[in-house]
Amino acid sequence: MLRLLPMKLKFSSMVTLVCLFAFSACTGKKGSSSSGGFVSIGTGSVTGVYYPTGGAIAKMINQKSDTYNIKASAESTAGSVFNINAVMEGDLEFGIVQSDAQYFAVKGEGEWKEKGAQEDLRAICSFHSEAVTLIAAADANVKSLSDLKGKTVNIGPPGSGMRTNAIDVFNTAGINPDSDIQAENLKGSEAPIMLQDSRLDAFFYTVGHPSGVITEASSGKRSVVFVPITGMQKLLSESPFYSMTKIPAGLYPQIANGNKEIETVGVKATFVTSAKVSDDVVYALTKEIFENLEEFKKQHAAFALLTKENMLEALSAPLHPGALKYYQEAGLK
Ligand code: GLU
Repeated sequence: MLRLLPMKLKFSSMVTLVCLFAFSACTGKKGSSSSGGFVSIGTGSVTGVYYPTGGAIAKMINQKSDTYNIKASAESTAGSVFNINAVMEGDLEFGIVQSDAQYFAVKGEGEWKEKGAQEDLRAICSFHSEAVTLIAAADANVKSLSDLKGKTVNIGPPGSGMRTNAIDVFNTAGINPDSDIQAENLKGSEAPIMLQDSRLDAFFYTVGHPSGVITEASSGKRSVVFVPITGMQKLLSESPFYSMTKIPAGLYPQIANGNKEIETVGVKATFVTSAKVSDDVVYALTKEIFENLEEFKKQHAAFALLTKENMLEALSAPLHPGALKYYQEAGLK
């Protein structure tokens, strides 16, 4: 609930925030300091895939609140980078984050160059693949990355994972995002309406498919197309966490070229926590996700390809002992 507030808090919101913190301090119910209580899962924009993913996890754990004495909620946030920082600061217990962001945080590179290695970051599992997705208005005539020059393009807010991906793609394509394009910093969920209002020519979004953001972007009067992201060999060879991927055919029949498989690069959505969060809490969430995987997969079409085995891939941080305990019990490790 707290993370739904914009980053610049109004005074009245600040008062509420202080009261809520005071309340949670008195009740001592934060999950990080006890084996039960309230836990928050940092996600992304409400129409992305992270938010429903966090919601699905929270729902499973809340159904078992009598067993675990845990109440979970999914919080809408700016995305991966914000989630890692908030988990490290103890403002969130859990975060859904791109595998590339997890890798950089562990190494103290990229966004974490100044802060250094995030030694308390712990991995739990991974979820769906996320494609670096580029959508443009058909009338903007963007057929390839180089056609973006001179256009107004949303690359995402600071704190999102997609922003680092857009910048990587631009750097690889020899496009300077500071001078060759008019870069906008909107949240993923804000981009579709801006594209439909002709205030954007194109936008990036690193997301699982199908995603509400893409459906929304393609449901208005202005016709939109996927733009393939090609020529990324250098990026792929230099970065272990990027892989080639395709946006699946047929998911978006209303997109002019939505029936084709669109070539691009991708990462994975992963689930992280802090070493400071108790083993019991992490064990409970891990167990509920894995023991109810078939039910969990029904919660979002982007989960179609998840298996217990591939959910242990793409993790750079050490496994949290609570997650490891479950994997050992289940014979997965
Ligand atoms: N991968 C996105 C980010 O961290 C969020 C995608 C989503 O919310 O589904 O920027």
